[in-house]
Amino acid sequence: MANTNTNELLRSIPAMEELLNTPWASEFITNMGREEVKRIIAEAIDDVRRDLRTGKSSKASVSELTLNRAMTLLNLRISSTLKPVVNATGVVIHTNLGRAPLAEEAIKAVNDLAGSYNTLEYSPEKGGRGGRNAHVEWIICHITGAEAALVVNNNAAAVLLALSVTAAGREVIISAGELVEIGDSFRIPEILTFSGAKMIIVGCTNATRIGDYRNAITENTAALLKVHPSNYQVAGFTASTSREELAELASAKKLLFIEDLGSGLLFPLGVPFAKQEPSVRDCLEAGTGIVTFSGDKLLGGPQIGVIAGPRIFIDRMRSHQLTRALRVDKMTLAAFEATLRMYLAGRQQEIPVIRMIEMDEETVLKKARNLSRRLRQIVKEVENCDFEVEVVEAGGIIGGGAFPTNLLPGHGVGIRSPSRSADNIAAAFRQAATPVIPGIRDGQLILHVRTLLEGDDKIIASAFSEILGIREE
Ligand SMILES: *Cc1c(COP(=O)(O)O)cnc(C)c1O
Repeated sequence: MANTNTNELLRSIPAMEELLNTPWASEFITNMGREEVKRIIAEAIDDVRRDLRTGKSSKASVSELTLNRAMTLLNLRISSTLKPVVNATGVVIHTNLGRAPLAEEAIKAVNDLAGSYNTLEYSPEKGGRGGRNAHVEWIICHITGAEAALVVNNNAAAVLLALSVTAAGREVIISAGELVEIGDSFRIPEILTFSGAKMIIVGCTNATRIGDYRNAITENTAALLKVHPSNYQVAGFTASTSREELAELASAKKLLFIEDLGSGLLFPLGVPFAKQEPSVRDCLEAGTGIVTFSGDKLLGGPQIGVIAGPRIFIDRMRSHQLTRALRVDKMTLAAFEATLRMYLAGRQQEIPVIRMIEMDEETVLKKARNLSRRLRQIVKEVENCDFEVEVVEAGGIIGGGAFPTNLLPGHGVGIRSPSRSADNIAAAFRQAATPVIPGIRDGQLILHVRTLLEGDDKIIASAFSEILGIREE
């Protein structure tokens, strides 16, 4: 229903050739090629047409509107959207931000392997086929005490494969308190259904006792399943069944005892509240048959899922059709092997997520002071700048579904301005060339320093300069 006015506006949209010949377009053409730039400008013209027809944004001049839209789209498309960010959220294992940043050695391993042919499935000794899994299996067994191990795409895949192989068409008993959802896409009940196992729920949300499991066992029961509650906690009156009790019951009834441990803790963490957290080895020693866990949570490696347990089951999983669909890429394996070797060498403290989690308060405070000083210096350079920068208390969390209610105490840098809201400043930080992702608390922007990596201070400082309108050479 375009009226004459709209038609006139539509006619005033600049022509493609005109836009392509502007000086700013030539730089994009050099980088992306003329055809691609043309396609993107066409898209921008379509957008503007649509807006004009629906009566949106008819205030600015149409040619300016088109130009701006084209520039925005081109800038968006010229660089990768998958790119590094600065994690100033204080959440160490942040799933949206890619979970665990890799250790130097893991990065080097990927780097060395990615561009060359390699021994992924080749044995130079045999002069023939080798096993993809073999590169890491012995290390996992060595560290955890497992008899055998298999790696797949992630822990969700590990749980799915373990259940598909050991319990399809049969019953799996699980506590009502452990029907967890993790990161809005992994739901234990759905994974169980998908594996072909029949889920038998016992107990109540807050209390499940060993007798509940015992009473539910039939001749069709294949396994008892224990799931780490990860990202939630039941408080108040609670009762859950211990690993030892479940192991004993499973053994007496000749059932398999499977445990989805979630975060793959290999060694105890050096923080007080994590002392009780079982490692993979603890679970296996307490009698768990099969343990599954993630590689990119507390373990600190790449996205991968591990199934550790008796060889007889692991061999069956290895030859299952699903395994082919869930198999791990060479770069992931390279990163994982290098990470595991750091554990073997007793150097796990150097793995970034572990270093961040175990960082003492004094070190965190020092980092906060340094960053604060640096940012205050920038404020001083701007005349009449009303930004206030200060060291504030700011606790971090481990994240990734581990210890959801425990705070890692420490300090961060608070930024406030009477003339700009915290949301507004945060948006500006997020839109920096390398996005800086801050936290916000009580109307104050918080830059958490525990989760900063080397070089991040400099990136934050240059983002801050830009926000304050300082141009850098
Ligand atoms: C995180 C988690 C998963 C999912 O693991 P991914 O590696 O993300 O697939 C499954 N179970 C538990 C208990 C978890 O904590």
